[in-house]
Amino acid sequence: MLELTGVTVSYGEYPAVIDASLTLQAGLIGCLLGPSGCGKTTLLRTIAGFQRPTAGQVRLAGKVVSTADWVLPPEQRHVGMVFQDLALFPHLSVAENIAFGLRGASRGERDRRVGELLELVGLHHLGAAYPHELSGGQQQRVAIARAMAPRPKLLLLDEPFSSLDPELREALPRELRRIFREGGATVLLVTHDQNEAFAMADEIGVMRAGRLEQWDNAYRLYHEPSTRFVADFIGEGVMLPGKVIDRHTVETELGRLRGEMERSCPPGTLVDILLRPDDVLHDDASPFKAHIVDRTFRGAHFLYTLALDSGRRILCLADSHHDHKPGEAIGIQTSIDHLVVFPQDAADGPAVS
Ligand code: ATP
Repeated sequence: MLELTGVTVSYGEYPAVIDASLTLQAGLIGCLLGPSGCGKTTLLRTIAGFQRPTAGQVRLAGKVVSTADWVLPPEQRHVGMVFQDLALFPHLSVAENIAFGLRGASRGERDRRVGELLELVGLHHLGAAYPHELSGGQQQRVAIARAMAPRPKLLLLDEPFSSLDPELREALPRELRRIFREGGATVLLVTHDQNEAFAMADEIGVMRAGRLEQWDNAYRLYHEPSTRFVADFIGEGVMLPGKVIDRHTVETELGRLRGEMERSCPPGTLVDILLRPDDVLHDDASPFKAHIVDRTFRGAHFLYTLALDSGRRILCLADSHHDHKPGEAIGIQTSIDHLVVFPQDAADGPAVS
């Protein structure tokens, strides 16, 4: 449904998006994730047709809609947008707000579609209410129903949860995922919150300083990050120095770590291995001991920060019935089936995983 090839977007001399490529299949939810100022909104606006690329092209449903020389106007793209401020019409009821995008349709068609959408977003009892009578989450759902009403090819959402209170931010992404799935929408949203991205998206693009560093599903971003930045930005973890022994083995302070390395470095290469908290297990019988420096209670688990003999810190996720205090030494072992390593001489080069 959406295909970007080598898209660069500049403001004057300043490139806000550099050489971005991605593909989003119909019916899937994609997400652009990254720190403030990395170019997410610029890319979204380019897809909507508000911004012209300086290079590359945007295709929607197989048709080229943006190049450096030509841009199909936003209103001709069949793309729906939901902005951060929602922009509901205060003087129109919920049903009238949703019907707004259906002006060309017959009365009967319009009523049917509005009824369908009210049902889909769980607001069938509030069709006659006005926006100021609704909660933040309800307003959000009206804005989404309004954008979905004309069945756009693609729905774009810019920071859809930013104005909601924390409780709703937790529950709404899952609810919206259901709404988009049941409504058959193809969606691209922007957020800087990885929990929201993980809760909603099938494909996530991690952006940094204008570059789309990896476009992948959440599982692969976490377990097979392709750059140090993605490894650091997604989830928790530390880099443990080591030396490559062979295709499956890296020597480290925690012994020889073994696992799949799809593209191995030559033996002898000095690398950093990504060690996630769930790669480090608490094991009383292990000869490797580490001192607890800090711990965070997470209900089912404790997240321990441990110091190795060298002083290096690592993280360990342990069942919370293993209740150890800071200062204690505990036995640990690693459980890794996929080694994600980054050569030490390539400061921010791609991962070799
Ligand atoms: P945020 O999460 O803070 O909204 P973002 O990732 O969406 O950030 P963009 O708004 O796309 O980032 O901005 C990317 C870069 O382009 C920033 O450095 C920003 O200052 C710059 N920028 C954005 N809009 C303009 C503009 N109209 N003119 C000049 N520079 C701009």
